[in-house]
Amino acid sequence: MTLEPLLEINDLCLEYRQNDLVIPVLDRVNLSLAPGKTLGLIGESGCGKTSLAMAVMGLAKSARITGDIRFNGVELTGLKEKELAKFRWNRIALVFQNSQEVFNPVITVGEQVAETLIRHLGLNRAVASQQTASLFKQAGLEPVWQNAYAHQLSGGMRQRVLIAMAVACSPDLLIVDEPFTALDPAAASAMADLIVTLQQHLGFAMILISHAMPAIARMTENIVTLYAGQVIEAGPTQAVLADPCHPYTRGLINACPEFYGYKDLWGIAGTPPSPGSVSGCPFCPRCVQHGPNCSTRRPPLVEAGKSRQVACHKGGITTVLEARGLEKTFDLNGTAVKAVHQADITIKFGEVVALVGPSGSGKSTLAHLLVALEIPDKGRVIFQGTPLTDNRATSCMNGMQLVFQDPTQAVSPRLTVLEAVREPLDIMGWKTQQDRDEKALAALPLVHLSRDTGFLNQPCHALSGGQRQRVSVARALVTDPVLLIADEITAMLDPSAQAHLLRMLKGLQHKQGFSMLFISHDIHLTRKIADRAYVLDQGKIVAKGAGYEVFESTDPSEITFKIQRRV
Ligand code: SF4
Repeated sequence: MTLEPLLEINDLCLEYRQNDLVIPVLDRVNLSLAPGKTLGLIGESGCGKTSLAMAVMGLAKSARITGDIRFNGVELTGLKEKELAKFRWNRIALVFQNSQEVFNPVITVGEQVAETLIRHLGLNRAVASQQTASLFKQAGLEPVWQNAYAHQLSGGMRQRVLIAMAVACSPDLLIVDEPFTALDPAAASAMADLIVTLQQHLGFAMILISHAMPAIARMTENIVTLYAGQVIEAGPTQAVLADPCHPYTRGLINACPEFYGYKDLWGIAGTPPSPGSVSGCPFCPRCVQHGPNCSTRRPPLVEAGKSRQVACHKGGITTVLEARGLEKTFDLNGTAVKAVHQADITIKFGEVVALVGPSGSGKSTLAHLLVALEIPDKGRVIFQGTPLTDNRATSCMNGMQLVFQDPTQAVSPRLTVLEAVREPLDIMGWKTQQDRDEKALAALPLVHLSRDTGFLNQPCHALSGGQRQRVSVARALVTDPVLLIADEITAMLDPSAQAHLLRMLKGLQHKQGFSMLFISHDIHLTRKIADRAYVLDQGKIVAKGAGYEVFESTDPSEITFKIQRRV
């Protein structure tokens, strides 16, 4: 049964004006919340989350607001202050971001809670005082703390007082703004427990504004992502966290240390624009898959699957490569050896996908099938929407490139460094010789190789293993690939060279935004960079999912075991 919304926001715009200066904050925001349900509001600082809360509370008094905020069927925008005051705290309450400044420093915190009861429920002081003691208990505080001043309380205790104050009048809607900020993990967990218990007991609907993704995952049914004052994604929390549609939401999730405790975190490249400062998609300057329309037309928020919405001209994160039902059997002296069996793989724009498995599990064969170096017995590979039947995707600009485990396999030892890096462009006859030289020279510093004439003229056989592998990566990068497949490229390097190469590769991927399939038997190395992962064993994909699910699944030793027992 679908519940009538308690809160419905339509086309909400909010801006501040200072003299002739207009500062837009919220831009055509739509959302709804049913009674008793919880909505998570996520986004980087400055995206408009707190302004939205203030608008719903009727506290954004100096702002110019257009659009609708309907609460229980009553339109709140345009109400006179006297009418609004009937809703504020009685029906809609806000737990402010924890700060000493929220409190009056010269009045005890108990008196401040009691004042709320006196003013909004009309209680006399004696009853309000009794009620305050009860609220303190509900919030997990001994009533004796009523007599304290705000500066005498810890951050966690002040947060509890703010919650006691907000639920004092039994509101139908509670907005909680960053309740876990500045709390240590134990205090944050206790705070989440308290809010959940109070909600179960009092039955209010809740908007939870938080950067804490695990709390959002635990406490909310639905999620809304705000970016530069606009809603860019909305949907059921579990579905959004497991498979975000918008590249920005994915970036927020991938930067979450609680999910990816072992991974090097990189954050989202670039910074958000000021709301209203761009005419097209506000995420365009940071988006790895932006297209021609993106900088000029704002994408509308449209349906993107069951109960999901996304604002993206491409319908959300697009798929770069998709392999379905790949099969490959080799005939070894009359013996049929199944190298790859029913393999399905999807790689999306801008993500790092790991393919892990023991030596001989079929990883390299699968990589060769993906780039059409081998033809599958069954199944198909689709690259950028086109079925792959030959090597066209690997011999063009903006295609895909495979970097081999052994650089001597790919690079002729007789070529000089410059010739080796330039060779893919020479083969495809890209532009002029001078353009090709310039492109090759530009790729060398990306992989931390010198552009000195002496080094450029060195034959590749005179390079160290690490240098040769960097030349291989530079050869791939000169073609500006949208997908890089790195097949055990660190396997022949010492640990220090491995670490340097891995960080360099991830740094390039982060900056340039290409997708990467990182193939390795080394689970410890792989999980430093993988957003998602597939585990291959005896030619079959035996596990897949987000990096944190696969590498920290219920039985991670199973993955390690599968790999170690055959290495
Ligand atoms: S593809 Fe375009 S519309 Fe979609 S998020 Fe990227 S820049 Fe925005």
